[in-house]
Amino acid sequence: MAILLDGKAVSAAVKAQVKTEVAALKEQGVSVGLAVIIVGDNPASRTYVNNKKKACAEAGIVSEEYALPADTSQDELLSLIDTLNRKPEINGILCQLPLPAHLDEKAVIAAIAAEKDVDAFHAVNVGHIMIGDHTFLPCTPAGIMEMLHFYKIDAAGKACVVIGRSNIVGKPMAMLLLQADGTVTICHSKTQRLAEVTARADILVAAVGIPHFVTADMVKPGAVVIDVGMDRDENGKLCGDVDFAAVEPKASYITPVPGGVGPMTVAMLLKNTVAAAKMQNNL
Ligand code: NAP
Repeated sequence: MAILLDGKAVSAAVKAQVKTEVAALKEQGVSVGLAVIIVGDNPASRTYVNNKKKACAEAGIVSEEYALPADTSQDELLSLIDTLNRKPEINGILCQLPLPAHLDEKAVIAAIAAEKDVDAFHAVNVGHIMIGDHTFLPCTPAGIMEMLHFYKIDAAGKACVVIGRSNIVGKPMAMLLLQADGTVTICHSKTQRLAEVTARADILVAAVGIPHFVTADMVKPGAVVIDVGMDRDENGKLCGDVDFAAVEPKASYITPVPGGVGPMTVAMLLKNTVAAAKMQNNL
């Protein structure tokens, strides 16, 4: 039986700390503000944005939503970002991805002022992460590190395998595990003999986007298994990248889906927004 890494409990602790910090900043006359941009009507994006707004409200962070129609032009979106970059009461800007196909995601990320880039997707912030000198960490990998820390799971010297190399999850996850002194392997769709590689992992992170992709034969007995996936099974039910029922008896620790990595992502966004407010107010 593995111990469940309870993202709800750990995120609640992070959120409580953020709430205290926001209240302390308010006493110093500093209000914390986050702008959330959503383009089009992708139902998953709408759910994520609603969750983020709710979490902001609970923490005392002022959130402003900018819901733009699906046919918004690149110039209109960049013009809004420019306005928000200059707005002093907005400390963080996030543009919910994916954007409609006609919009240039890279250009949109690049347009957000690095000091307001609370998703940490801007090349400047990615560079800071590479050299281990960061203000913001991308929310999902940072949330996973927070969870490992909470459960006193040390990556130092461990074989860490990350499946997935996206800019949002896989690559920064690998970098954070490396900074924690893990010995890191990154796998992807061209990796050969994947199961042999993953079966050597003391800490295995799955960020693939394929339901139940990680099966029991891919997991070392006693491994820590982190499931980033937010997938839908054949019945349309939310599930992860890990075949939980088969893998759980083999693992020492495992994240459930839902209730594992997902709640941590939102909590880390709040944490980044407070960090942005402090930095912008020289605190
Ligand atoms: P992504 O950009 O689609 O990347 C998926 C990665 O998986 C790619 O690097 C891809 O390799 C790799 N891959 C695909 N098929 C593979 C295979 N057969 N063998 C090995 N590797 C394979 O996805 P993402 O944005 O990183 O997201 C991954 C998952 O995490 C999704 O389910 C997403 O919904 C979820 N997610 C959850 C949260 C959260 O808060 N819980 C946050 C973000 C994402 P190539 O590079 O070679 O194509």
